[in-house]
Amino acid sequence: MAAVIPLPLTVLHEGRQETLFPTLLQDGSDAVLVDCGYPNFLPFLEEALQALALTPAALTGVVVTHHDDDHMGALSQLKRQYPHIRIYAGAGEVPYISGAKTSLRLLQAEKLQPELPPEAQEWGRAFCRRLAAVEPAPVDCLLRDGDVLPWCGGCRVVSTPGHTPGHISLHLPAFSTVISGDAAVVENSRLVVANPQFALDLPAAEHSLEHLRSLPWDTCLCYHGGIFRRPAETV
Ligand SMILES: [Zn+2]
Repeated sequence: MAAVIPLPLTVLHEGRQETLFPTLLQDGSDAVLVDCGYPNFLPFLEEALQALALTPAALTGVVVTHHDDDHMGALSQLKRQYPHIRIYAGAGEVPYISGAKTSLRLLQAEKLQPELPPEAQEWGRAFCRRLAAVEPAPVDCLLRDGDVLPWCGGCRVVSTPGHTPGHISLHLPAFSTVISGDAAVVENSRLVVANPQFALDLPAAEHSLEHLRSLPWDTCLCYHGGIFRRPAETV
């Protein structure tokens, strides 16, 4: 039976507790993970999958919504250990995921570094080192807006640029669900643009959020914030 399953991973990251929400798309033919956490997250993924009586060996694919380290960090390790897993990503993100181009987030951090107050300088340098250490990974399948993958009764790729230029979200009409990646996050029970100050193109990010809102869905699965249910229309 097909299912769309959020896999909340609560971990201590850089001294603070953080919950990330990768999602598993499971049906009779495929088990596809959407986003995979920071580098070294493989043990956490293994644990989360184990709770479903699965291992990463059962995965047939991983979709990466964009190239930030909390979404693609574990990708290279996952692919190395389980080479049969097909990696999917939006065409615009592929150069950054595969390492052909320098991470735009790293370039942004390096540019902002001189503007940080003295007490944040060391944190900024550590952040840059962390981004530079993310291992690139090969992408097997390039996705474009409107592509429909067969998973879970049909999974449509929705281009949602702004947070990064090639960011994608996924729409699963059979489940009345969207998987937003970082195109929408839940804050104070509202759907908002993720970290607007770090959006690489804020107007595009705002437009993408509106586009996501306009789609027919009841549930939005956000990588940061988790499950958001659309409030019932007031008549
Ligand atoms: Zn993120």
